[in-house]
Amino acid sequence: MENCLFCKIIQGQIPSTKVYEDESVLAFRDIAPQAPIHILVIPKSHYDSVRQVSNPDVLGTLMIKAAEIAQAEGLDSKGYRLVCNTGQDGGQTVDHLHIHLLGGRVMTWPPG
Ligand code: AMP
Repeated sequence: MENCLFCKIIQGQIPSTKVYEDESVLAFRDIAPQAPIHILVIPKSHYDSVRQVSNPDVLGTLMIKAAEIAQAEGLDSKGYRLVCNTGQDGGQTVDHLHIHLLGGRVMTWPPG
């Protein structure tokens, strides 16, 4: 997608701090972290949001990779949160499907 921020990060046109990459997934540190560890896990294929995904492998892969990255970041023992903001009411600000991996502090519930 031509004007998609995260597609530009995938293509290397915008810099990012990568923590994981394979043929279908990229993970990088959030530029405005909301927790000591805040990583975005995204598919390399563009989907505006989870609403555009019909292939369960896409979401399954993202969640499994997020859990693997959490383990690699040392978050397994204390836990962490995976978030997928969707659309206007969901607080989504970048229209490229992404999972937030947040950890390193106690999360509150309900979210704001
Ligand atoms: P959301 O608000 O759920 O759509 O999440 C988008 C996230 O992308 C926010 O947490 C932003 O801080 C993050 N973000 C925006 N631009 C960049 C960037 N250039 N590099 C890393 N993270 C970014």
